Amino acid sequence: MSLIVQKYGGTSVGDVERIKRVARRVVQTKAEGHRLVVVVSAMAGETDRLLGLAAQVSDAPDEREIDVILATGEQISIGLLSLAIQQQGYKARSFTGSQVRIQTDTAHTRAKILSVEADRVQQALQEGAIAIVAGFQGVTAEDEVTTLGRGGSDLTAVAMASALKADLCEIFTDVDGVYTADPNVVPEARKLARISYDEMLEMASLGAKVLQARAVEYAKNYGVPIHVRSSFNMSQGTLVVQEDAEMEKVVVSGIAYNKNEAKITVLRVADRPGIAARLFGQVAEANIVVDMIVQNISQDGTTDISFTVPKADYPKAMQIVSGVAEEIAAQQVVGDDKIAKVSIVGVGMRTHSGVAARMFEALSRQKINIMMISTSEIKVSCVIDAKYGELAVRVLHDVFGLAEGAMVEERL
Ligand code: ADP
Ligand code: ASP
Ligand code: MG
Repeated sequence: MSLIVQKYGGTSVGDVERIKRVARRVVQTKAEGHRLVVVVSAMAGETDRLLGLAAQVSDAPDEREIDVILATGEQISIGLLSLAIQQQGYKARSFTGSQVRIQTDTAHTRAKILSVEADRVQQALQEGAIAIVAGFQGVTAEDEVTTLGRGGSDLTAVAMASALKADLCEIFTDVDGVYTADPNVVPEARKLARISYDEMLEMASLGAKVLQARAVEYAKNYGVPIHVRSSFNMSQGTLVVQEDAEMEKVVVSGIAYNKNEAKITVLRVADRPGIAARLFGQVAEANIVVDMIVQNISQDGTTDISFTVPKADYPKAMQIVSGVAEEIAAQQVVGDDKIAKVSIVGVGMRTHSGVAARMFEALSRQKINIMMISTSEIKVSCVIDAKYGELAVRVLHDVFGLAEGAMVEERL
């Protein structure tokens, strides 16, 4: 008898009718003779609604309290799904992150999972019940409630699958798999039958929210096979698996797009050791994650440094950087939150040259100016003006022959 972990996202449990539909699907899997753990997100929009409430009460909400508030979203979903399954005549038992004992560190709102005990879940399974687990939440050694970062229910599912040595982790969402680009931006995007952990990790980190990046990293580290599929139909989705030789034949597997970053430029900074350390040290101390960094060639002993931060941290970052700029006698700090990052991703880039040049050429043909570039072995990212973001995604999708029906050979 195999053990399956299924995760249903916010849209899939968006209202009571949808929860009943998920219950029917869960029961069907159970009836096929599998042991089943189901992880659920908060109902669509609920996490944002809860954050909005907190923002109405406080301008700088304490993150411990934010986690106490946010964890309620998933708690409602598990209770409702459990009831809906029981209504169908099956045994179900719900568990919060703390009841499972998903132990995390103390980094509220972005906690890391340290261990998963799952004894009570095992017990429920042995008794023939379907275990329903709240996504996105954990508990510290001191019994404080934590959350795992936005999109964190994916991570809960992968961690449960790993802890229970499940045969498969199925992520049910509102699209029927991982596409060559966000299908809501590029209608011609094609569903991938398989994608490697590394490519999926890049796609997710670069903005494809179909899977949370941390969940993909965890799955890769613990060898958890993932199947991303639709909760609205039965079609085969996308398998996230170890890379194999076949995958290298495709140079670019997908295009990712992120509108949630802002750019900060510090003009005319003294070009001497220690300056960058001081600047980025203070930003890091405020727990702000810096993504791309570009430093210009030095002229007259000074240089310009640009970098990107999450949009949510932009005001705080501007404040910190302006303070440091004054201390280090930089000329000016300029901010820009109307940027987008477009990226091409593919393991085939390791063995093919000229890929970046093709990307730059395609953007220049549309007169899209590139403000920043960053590359790794399997990706190239460009920061551009936000208003050209979607155009750039479509153009690159076309140039690299990713559309529905395009042949692999054409993409070589
Ligand atoms: P859930 O609530 O089920 O976790 P999310 O909204 O987090 O769902 O993720 C699904 C969304 O991810 C899709 O609706 C789609 O717009 C977006 N997405 C972005 N890039 C991709 C991609 N390459 N393939 C599929 N979906 C993508
Ligand atoms: N409810 C959380 C969020 O909206 C976690 C999740 O949906 O995965 O980010
Ligand atoms: Mg999600």
